[in-house]
Amino acid sequence: MDRSTSVGKLKGIGEKTEKLLGKLDIHTIDDLIHYYPREYEAFGPLQDISDIKPGEICAIDITVAKSAEVKKVRSLTIVNAYVTDASGMLKVTWYNMPFLKNTIKHGYKMVLRGRVVKNRYETVMEHPVIYKRDDYMALCGARQPVYALTAGLSNKVLSKAVKQALSEIKDIKDYIPAGIRKENELAELNYALRTIHFPKDEQELIFARKRLVFDEFFLFVLGIRLLKEKSSEKKNVYDISRASLSDRLIEALPYELTNAQKKVWSEIKNDLLGSRMMNRLVQGDVGSGKTVLAVLALLTVVENGYQGALMAPTEVLAKQHYESLLQMLKGCGIMLEQGYGRKRPVNIVLLTGSMTAKEKKCAYALIENHEADIIIGTHALIQEKVVYDNLALVITDEQHRFGVRQRELLSKKAVNEDYFGAEDELQEPVYEDEKQQWIKEARALLNIETGGKSAKSVTESVSEPHILVMSATPIPRTLALIIYGDMDISVVDELPAQRLPIKNCVVDTSYRPTAYKFIEAEVRKGRQVYVICPLVEESEMLDAENVLDYTEKLKAQLSPDIRIAYLHGRMKAKEKDEIMECFADGGINVLVSTTVIEVGINVPNATVMMVENAERFGLAQLHQLRGRVGRGKHQSYCIFINGSGSDDKNKRLEILNKSNDGFYIAAEDLKLRGPGDMFGIRQSGMLDFSIGDIYTDAEILKTAAKAAEMVLKEDHGFEREENTELGRKVESEMLKRISRLYL
Ligand code: ADP
Ligand code: MG
Repeated sequence: MDRSTSVGKLKGIGEKTEKLLGKLDIHTIDDLIHYYPREYEAFGPLQDISDIKPGEICAIDITVAKSAEVKKVRSLTIVNAYVTDASGMLKVTWYNMPFLKNTIKHGYKMVLRGRVVKNRYETVMEHPVIYKRDDYMALCGARQPVYALTAGLSNKVLSKAVKQALSEIKDIKDYIPAGIRKENELAELNYALRTIHFPKDEQELIFARKRLVFDEFFLFVLGIRLLKEKSSEKKNVYDISRASLSDRLIEALPYELTNAQKKVWSEIKNDLLGSRMMNRLVQGDVGSGKTVLAVLALLTVVENGYQGALMAPTEVLAKQHYESLLQMLKGCGIMLEQGYGRKRPVNIVLLTGSMTAKEKKCAYALIENHEADIIIGTHALIQEKVVYDNLALVITDEQHRFGVRQRELLSKKAVNEDYFGAEDELQEPVYEDEKQQWIKEARALLNIETGGKSAKSVTESVSEPHILVMSATPIPRTLALIIYGDMDISVVDELPAQRLPIKNCVVDTSYRPTAYKFIEAEVRKGRQVYVICPLVEESEMLDAENVLDYTEKLKAQLSPDIRIAYLHGRMKAKEKDEIMECFADGGINVLVSTTVIEVGINVPNATVMMVENAERFGLAQLHQLRGRVGRGKHQSYCIFINGSGSDDKNKRLEILNKSNDGFYIAAEDLKLRGPGDMFGIRQSGMLDFSIGDIYTDAEILKTAAKAAEMVLKEDHGFEREENTELGRKVESEMLKRISRLYL
């Protein structure tokens, strides 16, 4: 068995499991051993019931005292039982596992391991895992890997497969030259790979991890430098010489561009009109006005006879871009010259997954016949059926978002977070599918001509389009420079001037009546309000506000003529769109919503953002939420309700209170959590590193970048003997991987 062998050849991996692994992008033994655990679980010694403490994960050796009873609450099945040992008795609860009725019977003995919580009335062990005593004792003491999974695949199956794979393969030749390893105090590769999956102790784990994080950054930087050398040779194959439509739009806009916008626009324009292909990342905090930059770029390619596409991460956002582009171009009287004094409007077409087959067909036809100049949509944009006619520019908006989603789901630590983080994902049933989708898209985007054009025109070597990526991810510039090297980055580092700073407050739930009065007053002034709740509906597991009940509560509190509606991820795309549209048109005064509205939504008339259970959100996420207000000329307000009553939580939230600067917030959040939080939440998500995190591992990133530059300087062609293996590695996979990430 070697590393390129399919995972299906492993014992115990049938066709079904192989397919599931495929969903995680694990196809070969090599993929498998590089699928690192997302965290580790330590199985502690058995405890007496009388000793266990709420908030902790405990293991108890028990006898069932009262058999399981099953009841149904809304859509949830709850199994309750009582268990006992010599020291006491405890209630145990499971969710959605009605079949446990046959396992948890009076007098049965077992080990239970789970989180102990204390609710209003009693102490309960929630959703424990059941073990035979001997099995548990075998696990005890060691650190067990916990992998990110996909529905249908268990951690047990995956870790068994990894173990088998590691024992079957021969040693891998270490591609990092010994000199670099020594200088940077790095573990040997085979040792690191084995240890990262099955570490004996913390120290080993840290050592192994450092090596693998280094590898990831080192290869990334090497790859990106090499790729950059290649791509900067790429000639601009598009004949783009006129830029009068963009000038006209700038003149006709109801506002003046900020200096930052002007600067970035001139950079983009130079790319498009210049001699090389554009490959540019535009970073700018929420509300800095990135959309208009996209429009200017799109208009420029359109004016020169090409098509341009704008891709958004969600349907709602795509739809909104579509509407606002229509309005902007119409409002500014932008027309295309057709020669002989004839003019026509710029044609914009929307293409999203939720459109009917007929609507889609219609869109495809418009695109293929070049009756569409600008195409806006979700990932539906790069499906094979779409045939573009001279597509010269692809813009992806809010690219950071899918990183964030990934992070939310990968940080499934406790049941609570799990449920909480996963809430909005329910709109797309299985998250991993979505990730696969994005990866496919990114790949497809690179080969957009092969996906779109007929075989005939492919051979005529249709070129890749210009690429522009817009993101609000706060990466400190120093880090961005290391990561991207001399890749082109533009930063929109200024907010529109007449924008008043948002006023913030962090308060507890007793402040609600005052907040409601304030909301009423704002509505009376003609303004609109968002209220965010963490959950869609009531949860047995989690004591937090939910959208459905909250909407009812709010209706009872506010005067009856105030129009209140709700929005959440489980609604159909069409319903969501209707609500969003109605809100954007001012038909709804107060919108109660989950975080679905976080992404890029723009309603300048909304001035109040009230977040319930703010303590449950990540700071970056709260900052994004806050970015939904303060977008117009009116004073805006943000009310963060701390539902926990804990001062620690307040301290975190105060960071938001103090600053409106995304970069500052990310840095402070990191400081508060400390660098020791190594397997904690990943801060960055934009770059799909599997183990390294550009924030928490910034030091390793710096040393890795230095080492990579050294290698390129001294042995650019990887010709020295100690570097040949490295050269092969970079060639074989990194360039491929990076060209995918590069978008
Ligand atoms: P983001 O960078 O978050 O994508 P948007 O492009 O959605 O921000 O812009 C936010 C709001 O600011 C929009 O209502 C837009 O019309 C407005 N805006 C953009 N640029 C300016 C400007 N220079 N002056 C005033 N308002 C602006
Ligand atoms: Mg935006």
